[in-house]
Amino acid sequence: MSRQGASPAKPGRLVVLRGGPSNTRVTGRVVLVGAGPGDPELLTIKALKALQAADVIVHDGLVSPEILDLASSAARRIDVAKRKSRHTLPQDEINRLLVALAQEGLSVVRLKGGDPFIFGRGGEELEACRAAGVECAVIPGVTAALAAGASAGAPLTHRGAAQAVTFVTGHAAHGEPDLDWAALARPNHTVVIYMGLSTAGVIADRLTGAGRSAATPALVVVNASRADEQRIVTTLGQLPAVAAGLAGPALLMVGEAMALAAAGASEIVQPLLSSRSVGA
Ligand code: SAH
Repeated sequence: MSRQGASPAKPGRLVVLRGGPSNTRVTGRVVLVGAGPGDPELLTIKALKALQAADVIVHDGLVSPEILDLASSAARRIDVAKRKSRHTLPQDEINRLLVALAQEGLSVVRLKGGDPFIFGRGGEELEACRAAGVECAVIPGVTAALAAGASAGAPLTHRGAAQAVTFVTGHAAHGEPDLDWAALARPNHTVVIYMGLSTAGVIADRLTGAGRSAATPALVVVNASRADEQRIVTTLGQLPAVAAGLAGPALLMVGEAMALAAAGASEIVQPLLSSRSVGA
């Protein structure tokens, strides 16, 4: 019953199955696919094959148009996060949509920025499929932190400077992010903050309040791996001022190993407080 993502695209299948008799149980499947951080060359071969074999692609706003262009032209595309119109489908509706499409017999690719299981709500979609008895597979993707560290030349772990790395969300449901500040303030430890631009002030305050030095090296990467990538080398203490001038998908990275980002100084924009909004 398992169908490989590698199977060739079958144009026309969408039409045939939709018109099929209602008592015929045709089951499709959902594949949660990590699209990586933006550069199409960071897509895995497995993700590419799944895109080419999909009947329908359900994607969000962080997926590059260049990546969508790699999908079969016969595949239907559904954008569930039209950022410009600020219309985003609620998560439970996305879950229902994925299940309904698979129950029509379709091969559904749920294409997500980065990795589906890193702040991507992939787990919720997987649970919804399981609950409905729909087969669901996962293809991992390069999460934004890995691309950001790579392009800045800043290793997330580094002997003598970072024995651990922690990925956290800076998203604040109730005023401030709910994080273990004492643990994050440990030295020799890289903290990567996703969705942290708007909460950079409170994050820096809590980390320094818990004992992390304001002089700890920090790196901000906006639009990692894309043509409009911006990297700013700074310190924990300066993070709020740097973040205030930025927009777009960005990571805040704090830790001793971020000092290595300075090695690529020619490519690095020094703290810029007047930068324009880049991308969405
Ligand atoms: N699943 C994604 C993360 C989704 S959460 C992944 O694994 O990368 C959305 C957040 O991810 C953004 O707010 C931003 O913090 C980060 N992000 C995603 N793509 C990015 C990129 N190209 N550059 C910098 N940050 C990015």
